[in-house]
Amino acid sequence: MLGKIALEEHYESPDFPATGSHDFTAKDYFADVQRRLREVDQRVEDMDRNGIGIDILSLTQPGIEGLTDTQQAVDLARRMNDHAAEQLVVRHPERLRAFAAVPLQDPQQAANELERAVRDLGFVGALINGYSNIGDENTAQYLDEPQVEPFWAKVEELNVPVYLHPRIPLPNQQRIYQGYEGLLGSAWGFGVETATHAVRLILSGLFDRHPNVNVILGHLGEALPFTLPRLEHRLRHQRRETHGAHEKPPMHYLLNNFYLTTSGVFRTQALINTLTEVGSNRILFSVDYPYESMDEISPWFDTCPISDNDREKIGRTNSERLFGLNQAAA
Ligand code: ZN
Repeated sequence: MLGKIALEEHYESPDFPATGSHDFTAKDYFADVQRRLREVDQRVEDMDRNGIGIDILSLTQPGIEGLTDTQQAVDLARRMNDHAAEQLVVRHPERLRAFAAVPLQDPQQAANELERAVRDLGFVGALINGYSNIGDENTAQYLDEPQVEPFWAKVEELNVPVYLHPRIPLPNQQRIYQGYEGLLGSAWGFGVETATHAVRLILSGLFDRHPNVNVILGHLGEALPFTLPRLEHRLRHQRRETHGAHEKPPMHYLLNNFYLTTSGVFRTQALINTLTEVGSNRILFSVDYPYESMDEISPWFDTCPISDNDREKIGRTNSERLFGLNQAAA
């Protein structure tokens, strides 16, 4: 399939090696990942070979969210967004777009930076790497907390989506991974952390206050299409004050306020389950480059047994509509 759009596609600037926490990753693999994070020409060659028309770039995790100093977060978010616009997108303006990095350590500054990135740099939304550190490495702010409200108001005003991307669990919440540090990241911990963060958003009432906000989750929704129906079923038996201020059943929000991408999951059975839960209008193709390979996921996506109509929507037209992208006939 030609003209696919991929939107969990990461970069890093040599000025801010954001991936320093990966000491559980195999050395050869990570050296290749880091080299690819910092350049764009090989990326576009890979896109050409795999029928990917547009990559939407984002600063790799933990990114700005991992900074404990608020002013440093504000300054670096701006520098990284300028870097993405002036060093990366500009080299292939027909093929590359970008999500903004935002300094949620100060939610009003995050709103301001999102607005600048969208209006002045042409960015298509924000990508947020999970919780933001506030003051130290063990203190987190999650996106449903009241102080983040100015950021969500700006998201709704600008009408752009927010990609909620994983990062590893807080250092003081890693006991269950002791002896199995390889599970902290993308193999397992990422999914648990991000699914739980998304459930907080769902239960908090955020989408009742901002019904037009769209959040994007990678990895086929971090398993929520499989797990959220049971969550909804069991919450009926929990005291009401123990699960947030949401007005509607949890699955309502998954169906109306989320898009789910195929990043890092090339498993037909899982895709078909996701299709039956949320439908083809809410699924978007993605790779998770350079942690994953376009050469692996694209041939799977292009041939997996779904209808050509669904493939066209997931691969291209849903994203064109969501991000207002126009491609010349692919
Ligand atoms: Zn990713």
